[in-house]
Amino acid sequence: MIEVNSISFRYREDWALQDISFRVEKGEFVGVIGPNGSGKTTLLKILYRLLSPQKGEILFELAPIKRMERADIAKRIAVVAQETHLLFPFSVLETVLMGRSPYLGQLMFESEKDLEIAKKAMEWTNILPFSERPMDELSGGERKRVFIARALAQEPEVFLLDEPTANLDIHHQIDFLDLILTLNRERGLTIVMASHDMNIASEFCDRLILLRGGRIYKMGTPEEVITKENIESVYGCEVWIDQNPISGMPRISLLKKGGH
Ligand code: ADP
Repeated sequence: MIEVNSISFRYREDWALQDISFRVEKGEFVGVIGPNGSGKTTLLKILYRLLSPQKGEILFELAPIKRMERADIAKRIAVVAQETHLLFPFSVLETVLMGRSPYLGQLMFESEKDLEIAKKAMEWTNILPFSERPMDELSGGERKRVFIARALAQEPEVFLLDEPTANLDIHHQIDFLDLILTLNRERGLTIVMASHDMNIASEFCDRLILLRGGRIYKMGTPEEVITKENIESVYGCEVWIDQNPISGMPRISLLKKGGH
């Protein structure tokens, strides 16, 4: 569905990403992991065309995304970016309806159908009860759900998520991830999620891309990527890796220096 062919990107002199190639198949849940500054956010921004790579190209169902219309991309790829600290003067419903903007005509009026779709998205994300509340009065977890609802209202085929669980407590993390997993498994949504939480990535993703210094260090199943050798050499600290006793997936524990 998405094919990334040898892309390199630099903001200024230094390359933030170098020679990145991978594919994402329809219905896959792919995680992008790696230390701070390894290029996760940059890669996602390139995937939704906020940035354009100096080298290489990205194909979406075989068509180069740089030649696609913006509204066309927005109908197919939705983004839940890292939370900005901008506070919106909009209500929850107004924010979710923004997801319909790629579908609106020139007059930008929403139809009954747009409202219907926005309401469905709010039902899925459990935010209907506070649809009239202003965004700046919501908790971080509630706001996150609104942004997912807005992305769902776009009726996309692909969801790009950048650090979606940052700043959420464990209850909201698991609610959020279960929702994403349901969308993936039941609706066939293709997911690419950047996360610095490797235990979450290990539990939820089918496949992982581990970045180091703007390059792909390792790509494969969580079992192939999350090994003691890979993690220690990429992060430069000692870790303990065993299996989550319930799921059997690799699980990372941090070790304090000299304390064992
Ligand atoms: P990650 O998401 O893995 O933490 P980023 O993609 O944010 O990594 O950053 C990759 C590299 O690009 C880092 O070296 C970072 O300093 C640099 N970088 C990120 N954003 C900018 C920017 N707007 N201008 C210049 N350099 C940037």
